[in-house]
Amino acid sequence: MASDGVEVPGDRDRAAERARKLREEIRHHNWRYYALDEPEISDAAYDALVRELEAIENEYPELVTPDSPTQRVGAPPGDQFAPVTHVQRMYSLDNAMGLDELDAWLERMEREVGGRSCAYVCELKIDGSSIALTYEDGRLATAATRGDGTTGEDVTANARTVKSIPLVLLHEAEGRIDVRGEVYMPKESFARLNEEQDEAGQQPFANPRNAAAGSLRQKDPAVTASRDLSAFMYQVVQTRALGITTQSEALGWLRAAGFKVNPDITTCASADEVRAFCERALEIRNDLPYEIDGVVVKVDSFALQDELGYTAKAPRWAIAFKFPPEEKTTTLTDIRVSVGRTGAMTPYAVFEPVTVAGSTIARATLHNEDEVARKGVLIGDTIVVRKAGDVIPEVVGPVERLRDGSERAWEMPDHCPSCGAKAYRPEGEAVWRCPNAACPAQRHERILHWAGRGAMDIDGLGEEIAARLEETGLVSDIADLYALTFEDLAGLDTGRTRKDGSAVLLGETIAGKLMASIEASKERPLARLLFGLGVRHVGSTVAEALADAYGSVDALAGASEAELAEVEGVGPVIAESVRRFFDAEENLALIGQLREAGVRMEAERGEELPQTLAGLTFVLTGALERWTRDEAANALKARGAKVSGSVSKKTSYVVVGAEPGSKFDKARELGVTTLAEDEMERLLEGEPPGDEA
Ligand code: NAD
Repeated sequence: MASDGVEVPGDRDRAAERARKLREEIRHHNWRYYALDEPEISDAAYDALVRELEAIENEYPELVTPDSPTQRVGAPPGDQFAPVTHVQRMYSLDNAMGLDELDAWLERMEREVGGRSCAYVCELKIDGSSIALTYEDGRLATAATRGDGTTGEDVTANARTVKSIPLVLLHEAEGRIDVRGEVYMPKESFARLNEEQDEAGQQPFANPRNAAAGSLRQKDPAVTASRDLSAFMYQVVQTRALGITTQSEALGWLRAAGFKVNPDITTCASADEVRAFCERALEIRNDLPYEIDGVVVKVDSFALQDELGYTAKAPRWAIAFKFPPEEKTTTLTDIRVSVGRTGAMTPYAVFEPVTVAGSTIARATLHNEDEVARKGVLIGDTIVVRKAGDVIPEVVGPVERLRDGSERAWEMPDHCPSCGAKAYRPEGEAVWRCPNAACPAQRHERILHWAGRGAMDIDGLGEEIAARLEETGLVSDIADLYALTFEDLAGLDTGRTRKDGSAVLLGETIAGKLMASIEASKERPLARLLFGLGVRHVGSTVAEALADAYGSVDALAGASEAELAEVEGVGPVIAESVRRFFDAEENLALIGQLREAGVRMEAERGEELPQTLAGLTFVLTGALERWTRDEAANALKARGAKVSGSVSKKTSYVVVGAEPGSKFDKARELGVTTLAEDEMERLLEGEPPGDEA
């Protein structure tokens, strides 16, 4: 589909390199999403990556590779299940983001069909997992996932436990019949399942779609049976043999055969009716007991479908109209302040929990004191929240006309909320800071930063376990992590209690995994170690440059400020900060302890940056203090972000330096979040911009 607003490099070599990176990144997310049912990024962020790759491939068709994710559906089937070859390929759908793109598709259909009448079938796009069912002589023989569209996974035993999938057809049917549809989990069952997952100390599912896919792809059918799954069917493969000539007839056939068919499906005689259906679907979306993420519009006539045909990945005769990111209103109950690892104090909104785009949110960063003022929110206000274009919840603003006079203004505290130290706001900066390096909040954040994905990647050491380790006195700095024993971890009181009042301990399984990830972290690349140490101004790009230039912690620690400033990408401010870090006794002692524990202190070849900003679009305006425009753009792009020359609604952030130009005004006009230089740096370091928590 259209790839408006995506920047394509003008130079072919750069485009080829970018396409290669995008393919790698998309493949990684496909694997997380389809094989593990554990996405790391939001669908919108993922879609943005795919669209950028499509735009490059449109501009340079010779760069299209047969294995490009734009040419393939889903991901190859995993090896826990037997492979099933589909009798006919299972396709994905092209997307229309918004009504404009839907209109463009409808106009194209009208053109292609030229004068002949063209009816459409509008179906709710059920947010679940595709399923292909094969019936032999009227009996369910095989059930398979979509897989890569050609080969799926055999999940027959699991599908048999889904009550809405008939084991025997109501029709008299000889030979083979294949039908397809979507297995889904109702919203309520999803919420309950996640509560149970929490209670059992298991990872919750990101959304109902992943919960459905994960439940269907279980090794033990008893687990699938315990999950509340249902299925809507919408396709029959052997239509010719059955004498079916339109999609509406196919749906009627499915209903009569005993399948569950979505009751809201409507046949529309014109493009106008299609638009009206899509608008209505948006209105009823939240009232439905299951999640939908759009409307699938299909040309009704199979003869016309055959004429229109398929692309490598999707039918030309259908389109998925995807809903825009959701906005919800809720009540702002408080504004609190978190303290990050460098002492930055970040205000964040606490509001009544609301479900936005499939997950419940209850807080969102407000970045800094000025941003709170700019948004103009008062405690007690009804506020609009969203998760626009990325995973980070956001307060859009207050609904002023709902105020009743009981709301109160918020003021930035002048003391650290964690240790009580007197806070300060450096001249010219938007951020207040706690000056106390021993502040428990800073310590906690330093440990989380060290364990984070962009740093030492200690899988399993999250917020909660870190807090318990600190509270019980087992860990007070990062070196202590390496002194932990299996017994320490297995016996760790998680602070939770069972229904009978007994304490929930971390247990041997999780302890074993955590010990293994702590052990594995000792071998991380040098750049990650330098980033993990949390030296002020050393984000992952700078860490990379320093690792390349010096090759070991010792060589770096021995470099003078002047030498450091010579390194490309390292200016005097960073050089001074690095020197100051290695001049401090306590830091050298910490490095000594880490070395003692076996943490690798030298570089290895071939290290790459984590793509923490994939899917986000930045615009830069004004002069930055520590970066040239190019350096900043390169640093953002190196982490997967797009950097664009103009501000639009699709812009995720506008980075504002001194004397900003008209882009700043445009950002304000469109309500795009602006970032100061240090907030951009925090993002580069893999943290939310104004919130180090
Ligand atoms: P899709 O889910 O956008 O659309 C195709 C699918 O829609 C079909 O295969 C079918 O299963 C489903 N569908 C539901 N109702 C239907 C109906 N009435 N008629 C026909 N089909 C219907 O495309 P996809 O290829 O399955 O996956 C792409 C989606 O998955 C995107 O939304 C993408 O954002 C998401 N994704 C996210 C990540 C991530 O990391 N977050 C990774 C991979 C994919």
